[in-house]
Amino acid sequence: MQTGAIRPIPNMLERNLFNQEHEAFRETVRKFYEKEVVPNIEKYEKQQHVDRDLWNKAGDLGLLCTTMPEQYGGSGVDRLYSMILIEEQAYAMDSSTGFSLHSDIVANYINNFGNEQQKQKWLPQMASGEVVTAIAMTEPGTGSDLQAVRTTAVLDGDEYIINGSKIFITNGYLCDMAIVVCKTGNTEKGSANLSLIIVEADRVGFSKGKPLNKIGMKGQDTCELFFADVRVPKENLLGMEGLGFMMLMKELAWERMLVAIICQAGAEAAFAHTVRYTKDRKAFGKPIGTFQNTRFKLAELRTEIDFCRTYLDRCMQLQLEERLGIDAAAAAKYKISDMFSKVVDDCLQLHGGYGYMLEYPIARAYIDNRANRIYAGTNEIMKELISRTL
Ligand SMILES: Cc1cc2nc3c(=O)[nH]c(=O)nc-3n(C[C@H](O)[C@H](O)[C@H](O)COP(=O)(O)OP(=O)(O)OC[C@H]3O[C@@H](n4cnc5c(N)ncnc54)[C@H](O)[C@@H]3O)c2cc1C
Repeated sequence: MQTGAIRPIPNMLERNLFNQEHEAFRETVRKFYEKEVVPNIEKYEKQQHVDRDLWNKAGDLGLLCTTMPEQYGGSGVDRLYSMILIEEQAYAMDSSTGFSLHSDIVANYINNFGNEQQKQKWLPQMASGEVVTAIAMTEPGTGSDLQAVRTTAVLDGDEYIINGSKIFITNGYLCDMAIVVCKTGNTEKGSANLSLIIVEADRVGFSKGKPLNKIGMKGQDTCELFFADVRVPKENLLGMEGLGFMMLMKELAWERMLVAIICQAGAEAAFAHTVRYTKDRKAFGKPIGTFQNTRFKLAELRTEIDFCRTYLDRCMQLQLEERLGIDAAAAAKYKISDMFSKVVDDCLQLHGGYGYMLEYPIARAYIDNRANRIYAGTNEIMKELISRTL
């Protein structure tokens, strides 16, 4: 199987987000993927999850929870470091590692809403890779409509008793802890009934399904979680009861940016592979890249990729200034994940039959990319959000 990056990745318009320290960090991340991840992708895909010790290796190099404050084991750096981590994963054409969900989503919930004790307990272990985490919102009966969650947490003395199940949970199989969205109230206003509760994986009654058999992203562990009378101390509540929905909303713009970033870099990587392929592959005695159709198609793709890159980097700038609106982030997520799908489809076509073979990176990008239009809020929900601001 061919994997890994083609360098240089064509950044068509010059970018101006990064300084020398960012670039040095990028080099560390690039080497990590090259040495530790890319050679093992086939193995991860067979076992449907990464090796557990990959998390510890990433932690040792400071690649987990990088933006968390130093006192909690992070490096206290800006979110461009998260962007670099995600870009390098995409340039390596890896879809196995679930680091970003752990570092950029779960850690933020704990850092933003956890009390001092929770931060001290969880964040350093998350940064070192000792603890792998997941966020469990989706249920067999509900995904887009989060307010319809049916997993309950009922207070019994000093403990919550949790019952229900969650599905499609990234890092679910390897997780040591999950933040579980639970229904704690029964008011008419559905959003006021939700709470976030930290559940350790070794609690009695907490069980995990086998990794789910996905069409792509086969190396990333995604599974079902089951809760049967799971008792957790009430101190495991994150923030306040009934504020779960509000807490989930706070970082939504950023969570959508994470998907946009991976799609943008994924499209650039797919494009780089395709440019190289069309120079090498010959038909009718000449490289297929010399046919006008190929040249025009590549020119069109390059233009679309470039336009999206410009929008995304501008959104990132606004994100750093904490001025990014939910609608702009939703637009980035929907437009760039759509663009990624179109790019890989056209790139696969330019590979002919080889594009349909899984040992070619473009074939894997084709199946891997599809989930981006579904998770972190489907693209239809993104359009709902944008339309509400009009
Ligand atoms: C690989 C992968 C990893 C995931 N990881 C996680 C995770 O870590 N944690 C987690 O909690 N979840 C995770 N998910 C779940 C994901 O967030 C949900 O699948 C997604 O939110 C959609 O929910 P659903 O599958 O229930 O689809 P549904 O909500 O049933 O939607 C079905 C269709 O109806 C459309 N639809 C729904 N409501 C509307 C509306 N109001 N207007 C227009 N169209 C609408 C949708 O756009 C979609 O096309 C993951 C999913 C995948 C595939």
